[in-house]
Amino acid sequence: MSTILPVAERGESILTLTAAEVAKTELNSPWLKELAEAMHATMLARNGVGIAAPQVYVSKRVIIVASRPNPRYPDAPEMDVLVMVNLEILEKSELTVWGEEGCLSVPDERGQVARAESIKLRYCTLEGTAVETTLSGFPARIVQHEVDHLDGVLFIDRI
Ligand code: ZN
Repeated sequence: MSTILPVAERGESILTLTAAEVAKTELNSPWLKELAEAMHATMLARNGVGIAAPQVYVSKRVIIVASRPNPRYPDAPEMDVLVMVNLEILEKSELTVWGEEGCLSVPDERGQVARAESIKLRYCTLEGTAVETTLSGFPARIVQHEVDHLDGVLFIDRI
């Protein structure tokens, strides 16, 4: 059984930092794998659709994106769980869309945030393989929300 970690909340300084890149020597390590497993378990326990490492007090550029319907997001589309390390958004569509967001670090608050409708991005897998992909719709929104966490930004800062 994976560990469920405490989640940092709005007002805590860890959420305002720029997270550090994961070092090459940390890729494909038991430490990184355990971090990702614990982040995933924590996200599931809280009915999240994404989580960023700073939310569990690890200031590193690791996020999980895992849209699926749940009590907090009943209309979320189902997708494979993506663990992204050192990700970079390469392009954003000019088209932006408004959508409702919440955050495990901002309990009980929701708000409408404008995000690019689609994004092209590059990231490393846990094993260190480089991947380039394009996401659109709700998964693209989650990635942009989680990347904000890596840069010390909360969705409420965008409202
Ligand atoms: Zn969040």
